[in-house]
Amino acid sequence: MNAITSQAGNDSQLILALSKGRIFEDTLPLLAAAGITVTENPETSRKLILPTNDPHVRVLIVRATDVPTYVQHGAADFGVAGKDVLFEHGGEGLYQPVDLNIARCRMSVAVKAGFDYETAVRQGARLRVATKFTQMAREHFAAKGVHVDLIKLYGSMELAPLIGLSDAIVDLVSTGSTLRANNLVEVEEIMDISSRLVVNQAALKLKRARLQPIIEAFERASQAQAQPA
Ligand code: ATP
Ligand code: MG
Repeated sequence: MNAITSQAGNDSQLILALSKGRIFEDTLPLLAAAGITVTENPETSRKLILPTNDPHVRVLIVRATDVPTYVQHGAADFGVAGKDVLFEHGGEGLYQPVDLNIARCRMSVAVKAGFDYETAVRQGARLRVATKFTQMAREHFAAKGVHVDLIKLYGSMELAPLIGLSDAIVDLVSTGSTLRANNLVEVEEIMDISSRLVVNQAALKLKRARLQPIIEAFERASQAQAQPA
């Protein structure tokens, strides 16, 4: 194969980066709206590159926090990532055309039941805050003028206030049942979270003919889903 045909071949191939679990599940109906069906299940397959019914489209299965990185560097042409993940990543090199309204939850501050958060903040106490979302937490407390010592964790944030590692946590909340089960109280909402379509900026130009119809189908399907019942 000469260089020109192989380059043309690459330009016609699309790679989508998704994380397993809720983002994968919630993206399937959007893909269906674009005529794309993933033909293997990431929960049972050991493959990290999944085929679809469209020979031009393949799906990479990566950690949720790695999706923006794959797309930024062009290893994937497009992907789906939560606003929380995009906020921590910074969004460099990413075009974010559509809020997909999937994987909805909120970023909140929570404390152990009985901890007087309002008073601690009013009195200017220095707070120890445990979180996976250090960028989000840093900006939130800086905007409030609250001094914090951030403690970076990678999971089970709920444990930190219970065991005295921190005064507060910054974490994603949906129903609040995990907080309740651990005797924690949500004291402040930082922002609503949903997932966005992210597209590599160079791919958007070079592969526009293939990407644009998919972006538009995702947009239509996510708007239809977002409408109140
Ligand atoms: P891992 O579980 O592999 O450590 P993760 O926790 O980042 O990674 P998920 O739990 O699949 O991965 O979360 C992916 C995205 O889904 C998050 O970045 C967030 O935007 C959203 N999300 C997280 N928790 C919830 C929730 N309880 N309800 C709705 N959406 C959520
Ligand atoms: Mg998780």
